[in-house]
Amino acid sequence: MSVTTAVERVHNFSAGPAVLPLSVLKQIQNELLVLPGCGASILEISHRSAQFIDILQEATQRLRTLLSIPEDYEVLYLQGGSRLQFSMVPLNLLRGSAIAAEYVLTGSWGLKAVAEAKKEGPVRIAWDGKSTHYDRLPAADELQINNRAPFVHMTSNETIQGVQFPSEPETGGVPIVCDASSDFLSRPLEVERYGLIYACAQKNAGPAGVTLVIIRKDWLGRGQESLPGYLNYRLHAQEKSLYNTPNTFGIYVFGLVAKWLLEDVGGLAAMHELNREKANLLYKVIDESPEFFVAHARPDCRSLMNVTFRLGNDELHADFLEQAAANQLAALKGHRSVGGIRASIYNAMPVEGVAALRDFMVDYRNRHG
Ligand SMILES: *Cc1c(COP(=O)(O)O)cnc(C)c1O
Repeated sequence: MSVTTAVERVHNFSAGPAVLPLSVLKQIQNELLVLPGCGASILEISHRSAQFIDILQEATQRLRTLLSIPEDYEVLYLQGGSRLQFSMVPLNLLRGSAIAAEYVLTGSWGLKAVAEAKKEGPVRIAWDGKSTHYDRLPAADELQINNRAPFVHMTSNETIQGVQFPSEPETGGVPIVCDASSDFLSRPLEVERYGLIYACAQKNAGPAGVTLVIIRKDWLGRGQESLPGYLNYRLHAQEKSLYNTPNTFGIYVFGLVAKWLLEDVGGLAAMHELNREKANLLYKVIDESPEFFVAHARPDCRSLMNVTFRLGNDELHADFLEQAAANQLAALKGHRSVGGIRASIYNAMPVEGVAALRDFMVDYRNRHG
């Protein structure tokens, strides 16, 4: 087996867990046996050790800098993925409410979120993209939000359909609760518009097993005392994300990814620009050959993170995937509910990887179109 993994790495278009920056992987490799100044591995030290608390605080500081998070927001590191947030959000913010929370449904994840919310309190579907198979976002005049609603829930990027809000929708001043799992840290956000932002890390920010929550401090007290401890945001904030043993390794890796974004990429505006550039490479080919590649999402709703498209039939999909894999282009199969092809091109996917896919697509079309 070769000692250099870099030359064997394929272009990985996995939707999640997904590609990580090579420099981050190398640093993990270098530090895995002994974390500098620690005498042990990150995998072996207490979550209450000074070294780990430093790591956690540094990661948080980097995140605060990247997103310009105001002081009146708390950052929490939780487990249970975004799936648990589908429940924790309504458990803490909706139970006992007489007024319905508003859910905007732009794809599969929003549907799953609202199904969990219904178990805890009243919800209203503010908009549902079902009639056009979740290929678009609501137009401004289609979204009428009850201005007394406790929150509006949205999914900033629907990972499966490849539909992404280009910016926050108008909610008439009602705070947004956002599932930002698959575009977290891909661009700057106006955090003040949100009451709560959650994101599992394994799409764009780190490994599986750690979930970031950014929550307005004045919302921390909303969960009732009767909630199981782990499910109450207030306890996690009180205990500074050490209520139970957090995913120490995941937080360490997240901190390294945040550092990479700050120091190597140059911040989220620069990252956003790069992400636009990368996505445009693929959408350009798709738009050039509409008789061969059919994009799932409408042009003004297209995701910069998950590029979803179809070819003429499933035989072509299978052949496309097989030939792509032979060209070191991996994990391009669309989600089973949508079919076709999905190229996930998160932050850590380099331009060269996207260009390689673009070249393959052009070549494939020329041979089969
Ligand atoms: C992946 C994903 C989820 C589910 O995350 P888990 O960590 O598996 O719970 C939820 N929402 C979105 C938008 C996702 O992309």
